[in-house]
Amino acid sequence: MQDYIDLAKKNGVVLYDTGHCQFCGAATKRGVHECVEIFSLGFQQIDYSRTENHIYRFLSVDAHTLQHPEIHGRWNNHFHLTRLHLILRQQVMWNYKLSPELSDHLNRYKAQHMDEILNPPQPLIVDQSPL
Ligand SMILES: [Zn+2]
Repeated sequence: MQDYIDLAKKNGVVLYDTGHCQFCGAATKRGVHECVEIFSLGFQQIDYSRTENHIYRFLSVDAHTLQHPEIHGRWNNHFHLTRLHLILRQQVMWNYKLSPELSDHLNRYKAQHMDEILNPPQPLIVDQSPL
């Protein structure tokens, strides 16, 4: 997984080290750090050497990324939202070969729509006191 701490820093996002996840509101004690750790645990439970299981990785990565959009940057969010749309709404049977194709399409789209942004929901305001 790309280092989310470096990504946040690059995108000017300050990460809180305690309390609930500042982005998705998960009831963590160590903020987004614990949220990312919990997310990573799921990858150990599924055999990704099996092609039929790849879909779970695509869906979970897309969902987690979009639950933490401030970290990843706006065009990354376009990628994950578009992929989810293609999988869930258009019933595209996604595979690893399609991801670079989607990136290429988004790069062409981006060149003509530089001002377009996805407006993520407001960051969840939660009580930051310890649980
Ligand atoms: Zn979270």
